[in-house]
Amino acid sequence: MRARQPDEMIERSELLAKPRQSVEQYIRSIGRHYLNAVIVMTMLIAATYLTMLVALDRHSLQQKISFLTSNQYIRFQQLANQTRALMRASTDPNLTEYIIGPMRDDIHRAIGDIHAMGSELQELHQSLGGNLLERLNRRDELSVQLRLELNARLQDFLERAARIADASTEDRRERYSFWGPIDFAVAADSMLIRQFSDLIRYGHDRSGVSIDHAKLITTGLLGLIAAAVILASTFLFSPLLKKLRNEHRRTMAFEKQLTQLAHTDALTGLNNRSSFNLALGNLFGELERTGTGFSMLLVDLDRFKSINDGLGHPAGDAVLRHVARALQRTLRMSDVIARLGGDEFAVLLPGIGDAAALEAVAARAIEAIAAGISFEERTLEVSASIGGAVVPDHAADEASLMRIVDLALYTAKGSRSATVIFDEAALARRLEQNQLSLALVLAADRREFVVHYQPKVDLTTGAHLGFEALVRWQHPELGLLPPGRFMPLMEGTQLIRGMTRAVIATVGRDLKAWKAAGLAPGPVSINLPEVLLVGQEGYEMFAGAVRDNGLEWEDFAVEITEDVFLNRSADQILATVARFRQHGLSISLDDFGTGFASLVHLRDFPFDELKIDRSFVDGIGKDARSEQIIQAMVHLAQSLGKRCVAEGIETEEQRRFLMEAGCDVGQGYHFARPESAALAGQRLPGRAAAGRRAAKTSPASLRRIARR
Ligand code: C2E
Ligand code: MG
Ligand code: MG
Repeated sequence: MRARQPDEMIERSELLAKPRQSVEQYIRSIGRHYLNAVIVMTMLIAATYLTMLVALDRHSLQQKISFLTSNQYIRFQQLANQTRALMRASTDPNLTEYIIGPMRDDIHRAIGDIHAMGSELQELHQSLGGNLLERLNRRDELSVQLRLELNARLQDFLERAARIADASTEDRRERYSFWGPIDFAVAADSMLIRQFSDLIRYGHDRSGVSIDHAKLITTGLLGLIAAAVILASTFLFSPLLKKLRNEHRRTMAFEKQLTQLAHTDALTGLNNRSSFNLALGNLFGELERTGTGFSMLLVDLDRFKSINDGLGHPAGDAVLRHVARALQRTLRMSDVIARLGGDEFAVLLPGIGDAAALEAVAARAIEAIAAGISFEERTLEVSASIGGAVVPDHAADEASLMRIVDLALYTAKGSRSATVIFDEAALARRLEQNQLSLALVLAADRREFVVHYQPKVDLTTGAHLGFEALVRWQHPELGLLPPGRFMPLMEGTQLIRGMTRAVIATVGRDLKAWKAAGLAPGPVSINLPEVLLVGQEGYEMFAGAVRDNGLEWEDFAVEITEDVFLNRSADQILATVARFRQHGLSISLDDFGTGFASLVHLRDFPFDELKIDRSFVDGIGKDARSEQIIQAMVHLAQSLGKRCVAEGIETEEQRRFLMEAGCDVGQGYHFARPESAALAGQRLPGRAAAGRRAAKTSPASLRRIARR
């Protein structure tokens, strides 16, 4: 899996920190402005409140003045009537003091009341004069004047009324009995009444004005408050809201991105393991609710490690992306495709409930993946193995589904068939493999590895030229097992070192025995794994066998596969190979045509023999393309000056074709199967016979063989 770049991580953490910081700053600055706006608005509200108080106070003073003036007016009318009544009563000489007295008292009481009201009015006017709004107003000179005049006239009237009341009965009779009341009435009423009514009307008008003023000022202040609110929301809150909205949108987008990242495989854009698990859980939930089944496929790339190690991670990444696209092309939109890690992909197929349908889908996926991809001017061959299972037929819960799909995949990989949909037999095989793996650890120490020998012969004469050593495992219970049964179990372990050491030692001992018996076994090829070509270990194994058994280096040969070219330590491998060749040991390129060798590698790599893979030999007589490829390979070997060997020859037709194509050496069941050292030894000619046979070998092949 591609490691996340440090830059990418910084960018993400900035992405997280940045927006929060800027909004925080913005809110802080808005907060300051907001405080100012609140202070201004509070002041405006207080001003409005005070204005209302002052206006109401003024209004209430004016109301009291009006009320008191009206009362004074009424009392004045009563006084005028009482005084006139007293004057008229004075005309009657028989009227006793018993009647007159109370009338006089009423007049005095009325005068007192009017005086009291006058001083109360005086006080009210003073208070009104102190009112703030009143002071702001223009002074109402007209009513001041009118009041002064009225007061003077009223005072005069009251004095006259007091005089009339206080005069003696005779005095009154003489002076006021006839004209008096009329005279008094004219003097008192007409002017005073007019002035009183003017004053009451003015007072009323003034109070209306003061209400209007209060309305005006309050409206103005309320307008200011409204303006402050509008300004605050326009310049403070609207931008803040906008910013917060944007921020929210950004956060949502960011969260969406994060969620997506958390559920997506960064390299391929497919779902990752966690979203795969989620989808799997949902499908099991659906199964429980509605009974709808589904299927699962597990895809694993073949030889991905070689590509990744040999050509580098960019090549590995390109392959993974190719596989992702191939799966997307093959599967439906509703299928869940995920990369679980490394080169492992998984697919959930809702609605596919039978193994045959699933197998068809898997076959299509295999085909889509198998299309080669170009990478840096070369074509990478990609292939995959797929395991699959159907729910609920094969599994009823997540854990067992994962286990059996894994098992099916493992079976597909082991059996070299591209697709395996789970079945019970696969489980049994897997259990057996597990047991084998355990026993394999001890096999080398228990000396359970045995070597069988398959001869290499001259294709023209059939003369014995050498052997290939092929390992077998003598399992205590299962008997003799071929490498295909146990070597895949060694992948990724150190066990192959111990096994190779055992094979080389055995071959050394067998060679020694054959030679001691006067036989001519020819060179014995050992299949040497890559790990032993890197470093000294492989070389030392051979050196040990040569030394311990008194052999020649030429008694051995080495077979390596094309994959070594992709190894990261190709330099060390080259050095080891060069050392072998210095000792005269022949190097054979095994399984040629199935790996990654390019012509450049072939040109530069120091090898002696090119071994055509048996899959091509198998096509002889059946497949014209295989035949053409074989001919091309033979030409290639000849033109590079290498010996050509064909493996897997089973028929005479194949032998003849290869011989005619110009191939020198052959190996296969047609000549002999791999056999134990004892049986193989029986086939060997004595040294003298070997010499005679060599003389009979065709001159052309002799020339080629002589290059060894
Ligand atoms: P290989 O090196 O290509 O060996 C040739 C394989 O072809 C052998 O299979 C041999 O038994 C088989 N074979 C030979 N002639 C015929 C034929 O006419 N028809 C058919 N169908 N097969 C034929 P085997 O012994 O099962 O070995 C398989 C592979 O295991 C070898 O392929 C080699 O890659 C590996 N191997 C075997 N022994 C060793 C060993 O000691 N060390 C290492 N590292 N790998 C080994
Ligand atoms: Mg071989
Ligand atoms: Mg081979």
